[in-house]
Amino acid sequence: MPPHLAGGSEGPDRLRPLVEDVLGALAAGAAARKGPLPAGGPGAVARRVREVLGEALPEDGTGAAEALRALVGVVAEGAADPADPLCAAHLHCPPLAAAVAADLAASALNPSMDSWDQAPAATALEAEVTRALARLVHPDAAEPDALITTGGTESNQLALLLARETAPGVRVVAGANGHHSVPRSAWLLGMPAPVVVDTPGGVLDPERVRDALAADGGPALLVATAGSTDSGDIDPLPELARAAREYGARLHVDAAYGGSLLFSDREAARLTGLREADTVTLDLHKLGWQPVAAGVLAVREAALLRPLDHRADYLNAADDTEAGFPDLLGRSLRTSRRPDVLKIAVTLRALGRRGLGGLVETVCDRARHLADLVDRHPALTLRARPAVSTVLFRPTGDADEEVAAIRRRLMLDGRAVLGRARADGRLWLKATLLNPATTPTDLEALLTLVCATHQEGSTPR
Ligand SMILES: *Cc1c(COP(=O)(O)O)cnc(C)c1O
Repeated sequence: MPPHLAGGSEGPDRLRPLVEDVLGALAAGAAARKGPLPAGGPGAVARRVREVLGEALPEDGTGAAEALRALVGVVAEGAADPADPLCAAHLHCPPLAAAVAADLAASALNPSMDSWDQAPAATALEAEVTRALARLVHPDAAEPDALITTGGTESNQLALLLARETAPGVRVVAGANGHHSVPRSAWLLGMPAPVVVDTPGGVLDPERVRDALAADGGPALLVATAGSTDSGDIDPLPELARAAREYGARLHVDAAYGGSLLFSDREAARLTGLREADTVTLDLHKLGWQPVAAGVLAVREAALLRPLDHRADYLNAADDTEAGFPDLLGRSLRTSRRPDVLKIAVTLRALGRRGLGGLVETVCDRARHLADLVDRHPALTLRARPAVSTVLFRPTGDADEEVAAIRRRLMLDGRAVLGRARADGRLWLKATLLNPATTPTDLEALLTLVCATHQEGSTPR
C-alpha cells in the first residue's frame, strides 16, 4: 500500500479522518485527566505511557488511526493543560484554536524557510508580517526589521551574536532579574561572562547600570528586561536607554514576556523607551497565544542583521539573488525552518491588534484581581502589585520548605500547577496568568485550594 501523504490535491481527504481521530483522542484524554495535570506524579505518568506504548519501535506497525488514538490519547491524558484555569505556573500559554489550525496547514504544506523554491508564498508572507511586527516595536525607525525565531532563547542568542559581530570584545551588562539564556548565550558564543548588576527591587537601577558601564570601559551590550520571568517586572527602559547612550553601549531589551503589551492601547505606555533599543526579543508563544514556537527578534535597522549574511550555493546562489529570488539564509542561523509565520499571520488577521490587545488587558486585569484577593486574604502575603500578569504570594509566616511543599502537593494530586520564584530572599508561589478565559471565581478557587493544601501539610494525616 502506498504511504498516505498529507500534501497534494488528495491530502486533505486523507487528513480529514485522521484529524477526527486526533480530536477524539484529545477529548478523551482531557476527560480522563479531569484536571490541569495528571495525578500521581512522574512515576505514575511514565508507567501509564509505557503501558500504552509497549514497543516504541515495533517490528510491524498498527496503522495511522490506531497509533494516533493511542498516543495522542495518552499524551493528552498526561498533559499539563494551560487552558485549565488552575494551570498557571509558567509562561506557557493556552494556544488559540485558530493558531493551532494554521499550524496543521503549516505541517501539511511543509514549506521550509531556507529557500524561496521551498516556500514561495510563505516567504512573501513572512516578509510582510515581520515588517509589521518590526514597525510595532520601532515605529519611528527608517527601516526596522524582524526575524522569526524559536523563542526568547534564540532571540537573545542572536542579539548577543549581532552585538559581538559589530563590536568584538563586547561585554554583556545584564540584570540579576534577566533570563538565564543571556549568560548561557554569552557562554555559547565565547563571549566574556556578563557583568551581572544586582536588582534588589526586582528591576535594574539606572545608577548601578551606569557604575557597571563606567567600570568596564570597553564596548558593552546592556541587556534590560521588560517582563521578568519570575515576577513580570519591567526595567525602567527610558532611563536605561539614556544610560546606554551616555556610555555608547548597545541596548537589547528582552521583552519575551512584556513585549505583547504593545498590542494594547491601555498598556503600551508601560513599554515607553522600548523603541530606543537596538534589538528586542518578543515571544508570541507567551502573551501571544501561539503554540510553540513563535519567537521574534526585532531590530531597529535592517542593517543590524548584516552579520547573518551567509551563502550556500544550493540555497541562495548569488546569481539567483541577483535575479530577484529572496535570500533567506541571512534570516536565521537555522537551515530548514518551519513557517511559524503562518499561525502568527492568521492570529494577527483574525483578532487584529485590538483583539490581541484586549486579551492582554484581560489577563492583566485577572492578575490585578488575584493580587487584590491575596492582599485581602488573612492567611496570605502578596509580594507586590503585578507588573504584567504574574502574582507572587505565600502563606503568611511559612518557611520556604513549606511553600515548596505546597506546590509539590498540588502537582502530585493534579489539582493545580503553580510556579515558584525566589524574591526578596524568600520563596514564593508564582501564578502566571495567561489564560483570558480564567474567571474571578477560578482565582478564588485557586486560593482556597492553596490554603486547604497548606492545612493538609500542617496537620498529620
Ligand atoms: C521565556 C523567556 C525567555 C525564553 O524564551 P523561550 O521562548 O522559552 O526560549 C527569555 N526571556 C524571558 C524574559 C522569558 O520570560
